[in-house]
Amino acid sequence: MHVEHDAPLAPLTTLRLGGPARRLVTATTDAEVVATVREADQAGEPLLVIGGGSNLVIGDAGFDGTVLRIATTGFELDGTTLELAAGEVWAEAVARTVGKGLAGIEFLAGIPGSAGATPVQNVGAYGQEVASTITEVVAYDREARETVTLTNAECAFSYRHSRFKGAPDRYVVLRVRFELEDAAGQSSPVKYAEVARKLGVEAEQRVDLQTAYETVLGLRAGKGMVLDPADHDTWSAGSFFTNPILTAEQYEAFLARLDGRTAPAYPAPDGCTKTSAAWLIDQAGFGKGYGSGPATLSTKHTLALTNRGGATTADLLALAREIRDGVKDAFGVELVNEPVTVGVQL
Ligand SMILES: Cc1cc2nc3c(=O)[nH]c(=O)nc-3n(C[C@H](O)[C@H](O)[C@H](O)COP(=O)(O)OP(=O)(O)OC[C@H]3O[C@@H](n4cnc5c(N)ncnc54)[C@H](O)[C@@H]3O)c2cc1C
Repeated sequence: MHVEHDAPLAPLTTLRLGGPARRLVTATTDAEVVATVREADQAGEPLLVIGGGSNLVIGDAGFDGTVLRIATTGFELDGTTLELAAGEVWAEAVARTVGKGLAGIEFLAGIPGSAGATPVQNVGAYGQEVASTITEVVAYDREARETVTLTNAECAFSYRHSRFKGAPDRYVVLRVRFELEDAAGQSSPVKYAEVARKLGVEAEQRVDLQTAYETVLGLRAGKGMVLDPADHDTWSAGSFFTNPILTAEQYEAFLARLDGRTAPAYPAPDGCTKTSAAWLIDQAGFGKGYGSGPATLSTKHTLALTNRGGATTADLLALAREIRDGVKDAFGVELVNEPVTVGVQL
């Protein structure tokens, strides 16, 4: 276990933003993770758990408490059953499963961060989400003060949400178990239109697994969604806003403001409609690269807010508020941030 005091947090986030932690503990075993959490809880000390820092917006004042960085390792594959330690690098784990010829998480290639964070917001991309393959999550329950195993149903997964995100101070994920598929070198059925187009297949068709993996990585890289330290378009937290899910009534009101334009619309549960945050931002006048300060929209994707170097969290939030308010004025739709904010609010 490694302990530092007054440790800068910005280098531990993909946005490279945020002030220092009063105490930073890096834990490399489950026992160290649990001991650190217990110790902080017993002392009534504020605790922030971080993995790869790729979905975090930390305030410029930093964190006045213990930051626990989970750096545990463990990749155990038994047939099609995979168990990952929370600290495993997600993108590397995906690459390894594809290398073993297993389907189920191949469209989640290149997503930054740790395996332990994937159930938190039910990580998803290109028609796949971890909720489809996670069987169990082993977590330390800070309320019950014991390690628990939650089934997929108990994780209450929904779009970019879960039981863990709903109770952010309760669970620390230790291990995640997945059931993958041996589809004889083939991928899962392609669900996403852009991927199907790129591969020249119909939706629901399977393709060569390695080709599916590489296609997604290529699409992501073209949008600045694969980390590259030399490319400021990737100094982001990925998509900054979730795609709005509108009730039937909200959707009617939205349609009335479109002035003949056609907005993307996808059916969502409970008679709701999901539209595209990227489309709304673009149509509200915030194109790629928008902004003149040290924080701007990515030049490759309107949904990523980026640090061009030298930005502060205040700069980033000012841009985020301008965009949120501009979309609200133009379309009456309230954008909600996807990354977790620490010590600050949008
Ligand atoms: C370039 C880029 C592209 C991205 N693309 C996608 C995408 O396509 N789809 C997508 O869903 N996301 C995407 N993201 C967001 C991000 O990568 C994911 O949300 C990722 O799972 C976050 O992992 P992390 O380890 O970096 O979490 P962190 O940023 O460290 O933490 C995020 C939240 O999870 C909590 N947390 C972290 N680890 C644990 C744990 N072990 N137990 C309990 N809580 C924990 C933290 O407390 C915090 O609340 C992208 C981000 C970037 C920068």
